[in-house]
Order: sequence, then structure tokens, then C-alpha cells
Amino acid sequence: MKNLRDLTYDELESVIVSLGEKKFRANQIFDWLTKGVSSYEEMHNIPKSLKDKLAEDYYVYGLKIVKKLESSIDGTKKYLFALYDGNMVETVVMYYKHGITVCISSQVGCAMGCKFCASTIGGLVRSLSAGEILEQVIFAQKDIGERISNIVMMGIGEPLANLDNVLRFLYNVNDEKGLNIGYRHISLSTCGIVPNIYELAKHKLPITLSISLHATSNESRSSIMPVNNSFCIEELIDACRHYQHECGRRISFEYAIIKNVNDSTQNAEQLIRLLKGIMCHVNVIPVNNVDENNFEKPDPHTVKVFCETLEKKGITATVRRELGSDINASCGQLRKNNM
Ligand code: SAH
Repeated sequence: MKNLRDLTYDELESVIVSLGEKKFRANQIFDWLTKGVSSYEEMHNIPKSLKDKLAEDYYVYGLKIVKKLESSIDGTKKYLFALYDGNMVETVVMYYKHGITVCISSQVGCAMGCKFCASTIGGLVRSLSAGEILEQVIFAQKDIGERISNIVMMGIGEPLANLDNVLRFLYNVNDEKGLNIGYRHISLSTCGIVPNIYELAKHKLPITLSISLHATSNESRSSIMPVNNSFCIEELIDACRHYQHECGRRISFEYAIIKNVNDSTQNAEQLIRLLKGIMCHVNVIPVNNVDENNFEKPDPHTVKVFCETLEKKGITATVRRELGSDINASCGQLRKNNM
């Protein structure tokens, strides 16, 4: 059995035609799926005979809200959604001046093992299908009753470890017959699976690529991010240059700044040398609290000096606003089932 939301519009249309039905049914069904139905029964303008035939191979499921928390500080909402097999993921909705942004998960758990991140505790359970990734946007939007305009793939999981499904999701969420969210309004964040950065670049999608860099030497990066043992900083930066050349987009580097680990002026200077010649932006994220580890945020002055050092050399740096901190909805705090 496959999720009906895994199909692209064209695939849905050919399935429908192969069942001896009219093409326009694809349009109607795609609409229902985009609106957020949870079963075939809700599609009341579709003949039962067609629904029965589709149901032999495809299921229609709606993510179930197991828990929903709302930040009393900034209105950020965090959802714990149950998937059809009982596994769970978290999804976050954030309110910005430029629109509503949803932060979505790409896997149940994560295999990457970054030392500062809660999502990887307990390892990887499985990857999400394209439809399940899409459903997070659809059901979050349905629940808030307002249009979501931006997507960040910065929730649980490593999107480039689930590249085929992520690409299919990107294609579907961008479809004008579906949610119609522009690629320029989508960011994808990776810890640095280098071969798949090259793979993604082949598709030349104008999405924003975010790189979780977090360190400026291989020794330091390997000590907090095991992925660096497979793909070192130099290979990662080369892949970024290639991506930029192919896709023409500014790259965003994420830097979780940690007290006494990577917060010195010397670190800022190393970072400047690494990023030389790349059109980029650095997002400095004072490390968020995760109970299982003891990384601490530097004091605000240290963070300010770090950013100013970058800015002086022409690298734009912003300190990421911490949203949803009272509901553990900030970067690195999402978990597969623990709210
Ligand atoms: N696996 C992808 C997608 C996750 S995005 C990736 O690594 O990019 C989540 C972002 O939050 C990543 O940049 C991640 O490194 C960062 N992060 C993880 N734990 C954090 C923490 N405790 N404080 C701040 N940022 C954290």
C-alpha cells in the first residue's frame, strides 16, 4: 500500500486514466488531498467506484494531532503528529513579519549523531515518504486556518539522507495545482552529506541550501558531528561552491555557537577564511538547551563580538531569534515522541 499523497499530479492522472476514469477526476482528488482530507469518504464529489478502485493500492490518511503546544512568548506552535503506522514526528509553525513558516521533519529520528541535538537521541527509526512530509504542511495549515508561505526543512531528520522522497516532496509542494509554495520560499538544511549536495545541485532548484557547519576545524567538527569523519570541511565547502555555481543562490551557513567550544574570535577568523569567495549568510544560533548534553550558550557579548568579526570582513551574520523556547520548539530540541 502506498500513500496517495506520494504521487505527483501526473502520476495520479495516469493511475486514474488506467482505471478507465476521466482525467478531470485527478484535479478534483488532488484538490481534496491539498485541502487536508483524512479519508476517501470525505471526497464527496468522487464516485464510490473510483474510490474503491484507488483504495486497493493507495491509502488516504491524515496526520493525527497527538499533542499541540503553543508558546506564550511568541505564538509558535509545536505539533506532535502521529503517522499511519503509529510513529510520530514534530512540526513547528512560526509567525514572522514576512509570513507564516513551517519547520518540517524528514525522518522519524535521525542517524547523524550530532552531539548537541535532541533529534538524534535514540537513532533513526525510518524515513518519511514524500506524502508524509507534505502532510505536515497540509495539516499544520489546516489546523491554523491560515496560509503557510514558507517552509524550512529543519525539523527532525537529515533531508539529504532521504533525498528521493524529499525531491518528490519539493516537486509536489511547489505544484501550482497543489500548495503552490515557491522554491524561493523553501530552505533545506543538511549536516553535510556531500555526494547528495552534488545530487541535489543537478536539479537546479532555486531553494535555499543551509549548511549546518558549527565548527571551523576538522578536529573540532568531528568531535561534535560524526558526519565530518565521512566528509570533511574542505569537501563540504567545495560542494557548496559547486551548488552555488549550479543554482545561483546564496548559501546559508548555520553556526550553533557553544561556550568554550567554537565561540572565540580565532574561530570567527577561521570561519572567514573558510567562506572566502562564497556568496553566503551566517546564521549564528546560541546553542539551545538539550537535557542529555551539557553544552552552554556563550554570554551575549561573546556572540556579539563573533558576529561583528564576521561583519567586518563583509560576511553578513545574524543571530537567530529563539522561537518557541518555552515549548522546546527551538533548533535541535525536536524529538520523535517526547512532548
Ligand atoms: N539534519 C539537518 C536538518 C536539521 S536542521 C541538519 O543537520 O542541518 C536543525 C538545525 O538545528 C541544524 O542546523 C542543527 O545543527 C541545529 N541544532 C541542533 N541542535 C541544536 C541545538 N541544541 N542548539 C542549536 N541548534 C541546534
